[in-house]
Amino acid sequence: MKIRTLAAGLLVGVLALTACGKQGSPADEAGLPGGGTQLPTYTLAQNVDVPGSATFARINSKGGLTIGVKDDQPGLGQKDPTTGKYTGFDIEIAKLVAAGLGYDESKIAYKTVDSGARETAIANGDVDYYVGTYTINDKRKQQVSFAGPYFQAGQDLLVRTDDNSITGPDTLKGKKVCSVTGSTPIQRVRDQGLTEPANIVEFQKYSQCVDKLATRDVDAVTTDDAILKGYAAQDNSFKVVGKPFSQEPYGIGLSKDDSALRNKIDDILQTALDDGTWKKIYDATLGGSGSPATKPIIQRY
Ligand code: GLU
Repeated sequence: MKIRTLAAGLLVGVLALTACGKQGSPADEAGLPGGGTQLPTYTLAQNVDVPGSATFARINSKGGLTIGVKDDQPGLGQKDPTTGKYTGFDIEIAKLVAAGLGYDESKIAYKTVDSGARETAIANGDVDYYVGTYTINDKRKQQVSFAGPYFQAGQDLLVRTDDNSITGPDTLKGKKVCSVTGSTPIQRVRDQGLTEPANIVEFQKYSQCVDKLATRDVDAVTTDDAILKGYAAQDNSFKVVGKPFSQEPYGIGLSKDDSALRNKIDDILQTALDDGTWKKIYDATLGGSGSPATKPIIQRY
């Protein structure tokens, strides 16, 4: 009980904090109502060398980076259709890593790559690395390598605010559930039989699922809580059920053979976690959607 009370107290604290600063923030640019803190500036590393990294050699020969990201995930990776600018937590992590490799934002070309196309884009060298809610798991590790994790999410459900019939994964039978091709959440819905196969609706992008939720063509969208909270923060006709039922550690995807670059990126992330930069990024982006900041522990994959 005590632990529960403490957790509830912490949650109230977090909500109160996120409710504070509201105006004119980078998080507003990312389409989230909270935030209110400034993004950090990243120190541009000088004379960087990553011995043995084929990807870094390719980056240097191009004189810039191509980074794979998402473009429809508010607070994480979102592209403004008019300005073409990408914003969010993942985008900032992408920039932080680029700065640690000696490249400022003007040298970054973002490339939108949806969930089902990530492994191929990395393996083909279409992107130098990928930052987009990309869960580290053994299956993917057969094709790509991961630095990180730089964030910990969990699978959850987005439903219409007026729907009280869906309260968790065990209430999905007979409901139409939407998720994205090649994602861990759709795989889990299938593996665990959370709804009937005929009730699983699949798209390339989560925003397509959210559109179908609005038009009542589906009853729930399932993916990581961090993604769903971004959609709920933008539209109060949706709510997140709030009972995460998996662990989704986010990694930076890169070429399977490039352990030199992976170690370098791990070091960049570790420094940002230690010196407060990670927390500043979080507060100015995802923090606006009300998810508490839990610092990840960098592993050597
Ligand atoms: N993190 C999960 C995954 O990597 C879901 C989010 C996504 O599709 O990017 O599959």
